[in-house]
Amino acid sequence: MSCRRSYDTIILGSGAGGSLLAAILARSGQSVAIIDRRQHPRFAIGESSTPAANLVLRSLSMKYDLPELLPLTRFGDWRNSYPEILCGCKRGFSYFWHGSEKDFSFDAFHHHELLVTANSSRKKADTQWYRPDVDQFLVTVAQKHSACLYENAARIEIEHPASHDWRVSFERGLKTETVRSRFIVDATGENAVLLDQLNIPCITEELQTNSSAIWGHWEGVDSVAKWVEMSGGSCRDYPFPVDDSAVHHLFPDGWLWQLRFENGLTSLGFLSSPGCFSNEMKTASPESPEQAWKSILQAKPSFAKMLSRAALAPFPGKLYRCGRLQRLRKTASGPDWAALPFATGFIDPLHSTGLAHTMTGIEHLCPILLGESGKKRELSLKQYSQKIMAEFRLIDLLVAGCYRSLHEFSLFTAWAILYFAAATTYEKRYQHESDSRPAFLCADDARFTTLVQQLYEELKALTSNGTGNRQEMVDFINRIRRQIAPFNHVGLFEPEVINMYRYTSVD
Ligand SMILES: Cc1cc2nc3c(=O)[nH]c(=O)nc-3n(C[C@H](O)[C@H](O)[C@H](O)COP(=O)(O)OP(=O)(O)OC[C@H]3O[C@@H](n4cnc5c(N)ncnc54)[C@H](O)[C@@H]3O)c2cc1C
Repeated sequence: MSCRRSYDTIILGSGAGGSLLAAILARSGQSVAIIDRRQHPRFAIGESSTPAANLVLRSLSMKYDLPELLPLTRFGDWRNSYPEILCGCKRGFSYFWHGSEKDFSFDAFHHHELLVTANSSRKKADTQWYRPDVDQFLVTVAQKHSACLYENAARIEIEHPASHDWRVSFERGLKTETVRSRFIVDATGENAVLLDQLNIPCITEELQTNSSAIWGHWEGVDSVAKWVEMSGGSCRDYPFPVDDSAVHHLFPDGWLWQLRFENGLTSLGFLSSPGCFSNEMKTASPESPEQAWKSILQAKPSFAKMLSRAALAPFPGKLYRCGRLQRLRKTASGPDWAALPFATGFIDPLHSTGLAHTMTGIEHLCPILLGESGKKRELSLKQYSQKIMAEFRLIDLLVAGCYRSLHEFSLFTAWAILYFAAATTYEKRYQHESDSRPAFLCADDARFTTLVQQLYEELKALTSNGTGNRQEMVDFINRIRRQIAPFNHVGLFEPEVINMYRYTSVD
């Protein structure tokens, strides 16, 4: 299709977020330009979806008449409808606490394992998104509904000569092109090009979480089930096949994600927290990502066993590494612009909040862009930003508390359960409050956010001198258990489940 020069909305970035937003706006009759500096398919990280992400995606597909997106919300439908789009099956979250021992220690009461079910069957399961395929699919959907895609755009320049007058110029091949719009959206993720251009301040130093990451894709990684059996454990009590989950390997100095796709490809990433680095890691100071990865494996032989036959996948064929992963801008909107959550900020892959947060941001933004104007729109855009900022603040505490607890699994479990209470309460509210959508993870519920803030201060005090006093820790865990009771609808903290939660799904 031929592209015009003037649009209702320009979206910078054609990742999952930008493309989904473009598909909705275009399907609803807006003229939309998507501008990306790269070309699909390309490598992208952020793969593990959640019940919340799927609830919102399902609702968006139905509300905006995009039935082609519905199969993405359940593993069974995805595999039947789009076998060519690679994904993995995600029945829930699994955690293995390796501690500082060289070998993982399993016991009959699963003291070092936690499995939390998110959905009741493989058919209804969530998914791991192979982003090169999914993002390409989403941008194709947007194009099918007449969004205009400008890929490989170099030297992007943004001008804003007057209110509701945006001009974006870029080079493609030998040509310089300029497109205009009344509204612009920053969906460029960590690059946040529009936010940079507008000089929106960074307030990252206000965040509690402090982690850095290294990640890549591997072939030939042993299954987790095999590793469990070979290490003297047993999968017999597990509520779902452990490889059908977002697997977290926990160490005192960080954690490792392990996500398996249907063809055996495995996504692995290690998140290290400077605050809880062991001496061994602190002094390693590796030069290249490959050396850094090697040092991680050397320090973690209980995990390294699984990778004895593994090799980096040919695509993208390399490791990615970044310094501090957290970032946050002061605002996510202005009178004639908005930024998606992942451009506004990011906390951490722990709890897989990124995709769901992106969906909820899009869900909030669409009615504003499609149905509001003038002062009403300006006010709604302000509220959009306030909501996103409150969500980031809450996610930050839910994640930072986990890092603070990595040295002691019962403490980690108790803090992680706060996230599951938030997620399941949010999902419940979402299903029952369709007129006005709740903030992600109940960030609009002052009772819940105040509780998390208070507990976080207590946790900080408890862990300020290293591992803290054992009795104080037990008392603290009991306090969490009692105080989250109003948000515990799915039997979290029940002693008889011995860390194997079978029934936390909302499906
Ligand atoms: C290490 C890591 C692990 C993560 N793991 C998870 C997870 O397990 N689960 C989860 O839910 N979330 C996860 N996330 C978050 C997830 O990646 C994001 O929520 C998701 O990618 C947001 O999609 P997006 O389209 O908004 O941004 P992106 O996917 O980042 O897309 C941005 C797009 O903008 C384009 N772009 C960038 N710069 C420019 C520019 N200057 N001009 C034009 N275009 C540009 C890029 O090419 C890209 O196409 C993770 C994030 C990180 C960093």
